[in-house]
Amino acid sequence: MKFTSTIIGYPYIGENREWKKTVEAYWAKTLSEKQFEKSMKALRLANIQKQIDANVDVVTVGDFTFYDRVLDVAVMFGMVPKRFNWDGGTIHLETYYSIARGNEQALASEMTKWFNTNYHYIVPEYDGSNLRLYENIPLKAYIEARDELGILGKPTMIGPVTFYKLTKVMENINKQTYLFQLIDLYTQILNALVAEGVKWIQFEEPIFTTSISEKDMQQAKEVYKQLSKAVPQAQILLQTYFEAVEHYETVISLPVAGIGLDFVHGFQENITNLKRWGFPKEKILVAGVINGRNIWCTPLKRQFDFLTELKSLISSENLWIQPSCSLMHVPVTVASESKLSEEFKNNLAFADEKLQELNFLKNALREGSDYYKDIFKQNIDNIANLNHSRDRQLITVHEAIQQITEKDFSRKKPHKIRKELQQEILQLPLFPTTTIGSLPQTEEVKKTRAEMRKGKISREDYRTFIQSEIKKWIDYQEKLGLDVYVHGEFERTDMVEYFGEKLKGFAFTEKAWVVSYGSRCVKPPIIYGDVQWIEPMTIAETVYAQSLTTKPVKGMLTGPNTMLNWSFVRDDIPKKEVAYQIALAIRKEVQTLEREGIQIIQVDEPALREGLPLKVNKQTSYLEWAINAFKLATSEVADVTQIHTHMYYCEFNDFIEPIRALDTDVISIETSKSHGEIIEAFKNNDYENDIGLGVYDIHSPRIPQLNEMQAIIDESLKVLAIEQCWINPDCGLKTRKTAETLAALERMVDTAKIMRERYKQEVLNMIN
Ligand code: GLN
Repeated sequence: MKFTSTIIGYPYIGENREWKKTVEAYWAKTLSEKQFEKSMKALRLANIQKQIDANVDVVTVGDFTFYDRVLDVAVMFGMVPKRFNWDGGTIHLETYYSIARGNEQALASEMTKWFNTNYHYIVPEYDGSNLRLYENIPLKAYIEARDELGILGKPTMIGPVTFYKLTKVMENINKQTYLFQLIDLYTQILNALVAEGVKWIQFEEPIFTTSISEKDMQQAKEVYKQLSKAVPQAQILLQTYFEAVEHYETVISLPVAGIGLDFVHGFQENITNLKRWGFPKEKILVAGVINGRNIWCTPLKRQFDFLTELKSLISSENLWIQPSCSLMHVPVTVASESKLSEEFKNNLAFADEKLQELNFLKNALREGSDYYKDIFKQNIDNIANLNHSRDRQLITVHEAIQQITEKDFSRKKPHKIRKELQQEILQLPLFPTTTIGSLPQTEEVKKTRAEMRKGKISREDYRTFIQSEIKKWIDYQEKLGLDVYVHGEFERTDMVEYFGEKLKGFAFTEKAWVVSYGSRCVKPPIIYGDVQWIEPMTIAETVYAQSLTTKPVKGMLTGPNTMLNWSFVRDDIPKKEVAYQIALAIRKEVQTLEREGIQIIQVDEPALREGLPLKVNKQTSYLEWAINAFKLATSEVADVTQIHTHMYYCEFNDFIEPIRALDTDVISIETSKSHGEIIEAFKNNDYENDIGLGVYDIHSPRIPQLNEMQAIIDESLKVLAIEQCWINPDCGLKTRKTAETLAALERMVDTAKIMRERYKQEVLNMIN
């Protein structure tokens, strides 16, 4: 068959997040295990049916999960950490979920970012046990789809090299033995699939698109050699995605039947390599030509022409087409959106629309583009209309971008001088205490907002209500004896959405959810037009809070990189430019706050690291503009204005230089969960600006102990100077209850007092 179509995976959450609801109902015990299995099966089959209905030639199965697909592989192999007291028998759903979420007795496994996406997987732990194949999920998925839907699917799973590389192997355990066991387990899976008559087996190996070493690649080669020797009949489709493969020549020579390459995100490098080194005649090339990471419609003609050109290198029998990665990173269907204009929707393609595009490209390639010229033309017009729309032609925004100079990226004086000037006004004690910004969003806060949105209460009443919350919490902060206050962010649901709704250039969807981790789904805004500040966004609440106290109240904003990385972004201009546009808008808000007398302004960048490219050689240029964007937003203030930022969960070890480059007066970070490990990063470093130590974990309702917090501070003081340290919780408090927050903050303030006493003498000595 010419131009066979396939996909790497389809979103499992369902059009209305049925998946999430089912999982959570099971957790809440309102759904029995039997009912759970039944609903999940229905959803799984419905998802496969979508592929069938969209005419996908090689339908993918096994891309479904009850929580996370990396965890699935671990559990298939019996990799259950000892602390879960598993008896070695069948692995029940309860055990499966406790690995992911922890239980009363045992901490959950770590969770971390899936390559450069906003999805997070459960990190497999290998402790040296003997592994065994407890379940063959790809086989089960294949049989189910065959028996229930009559299709012969292509089962998929995370490939052996990626799984191996993502595993946290406990200390003193021989990695080689682990790898041998994995090869054996994958062999068993392949054997069973082949015995069942499975034609294609998909192994996902995104690890090949990262900067992996030559040595690791040689090892990968050995793995595939052994698998092919053990099960020569298995036809493996090796999928790479998110970037171009690093060791092209080695990858294409692996003994597999087909290889998937990403021609969206790794286009230049992949195509250059393909032209230079060719592609083995006997193998299938699966070309990823539809963007699986963004929500814009595909430029059909351009991709059609590209595939036509590829025909000169690959025979059309061996050239398959697919989206660039699993469609789980985009929402399910544009059809669920009722509030966006038809014109705008013409430019969007979520998973279902991408399936249609795939089908269209296949038909056009098979039958000739002439039959389809109207559709091509319509698509070109749609894209041109959006590109030429007024929202993308805001002259003032474009001019402002043109006028940016190096000067815009730095503060006038170095931190040391700024600190003195700021301290003259702020008069802060040693170990100043503060919080990260948001305070408990009670049921009442949520209910009142919902009523305002439904028009049940007036905007005026809503504002009065928010003011009363602010007042209540200014009083609490006064009683607690904190040093720098916040207004509490009661008016915000989400730190990106709140600003997006007030800026020009953002659009919001009703049901465009994507999974972020476990059952948690997010609904990223769409940055479709030029971003522009229209009116003050935070002034009323901040200024009101400040009017109630003589203590400084921090202004609280979301940084440009976080807004960018937590949104779907237009792709007609470079990301850097979008980041600068947002930065200019935030700068305007910073200026306004400053003008209104706000002394301290915090610009949060928890997602700065999320935009980091997979390839090491692309990271420098990303960091340069990302840091510049932050500085563009924050540098124009007077020396006496104190700039803070907050970063939660960031691997700081290799991130000190970027942090230094941000040149914030204070950066607050997480130091409690990682038990001071993060602070290690500051060792051997002459980082001099202030650091807010996140001394307790806000993700747990537990009230922290004085000695725990002191231990973190003492630990930090081994590498930091006393006068550098602030004390704060490790993240915003909006998800916590009022009573526990007050109790925790009281202990935190007590800790600061104890520390001040303890280190008073040292400071006196230092001054003398
Ligand atoms: N100011 C935000 C809050 O407290 C910061 C949260 C974050 O950076 N993740 O909610």
